[in-house]
Amino acid sequence: MDEKALKQIKLLLVKMKSDLQEQEETSKEIGKPVELDQTKVGRISRMDAMQAQQMALDASRRRKLQLVKVENAFQRINSGEYGYCLGCDEDIALRRLMVDPTSTHCIECAEKMGN
Ligand SMILES: [Zn+2]
Repeated sequence: MDEKALKQIKLLLVKMKSDLQEQEETSKEIGKPVELDQTKVGRISRMDAMQAQQMALDASRRRKLQLVKVENAFQRINSGEYGYCLGCDEDIALRRLMVDPTSTHCIECAEKMGN
């Protein structure tokens, strides 16, 4: 991969990371345990609140996984392994990396794995 492309990829990864961290900060506020006044809210809205909280937790879990993938991509860049498929060692198409810079497999291998 040439320097220019790698630079672009790095920028994408830095952006992904800061977006994820920002979302995480915002969701900490939303994800706080819901204190509800039982005299004012019925059971339905209490369940709604719990469901919303569960969804916030799920989203947070996905963000953390995504952050790990971003960190791994940085590590591969530093070690010079970035852009090579973990399955077949071929180059991963730059177009694919531009869409998802955390891709670790080429399209053929990704399809074989079922994602
Ligand atoms: Zn491959």
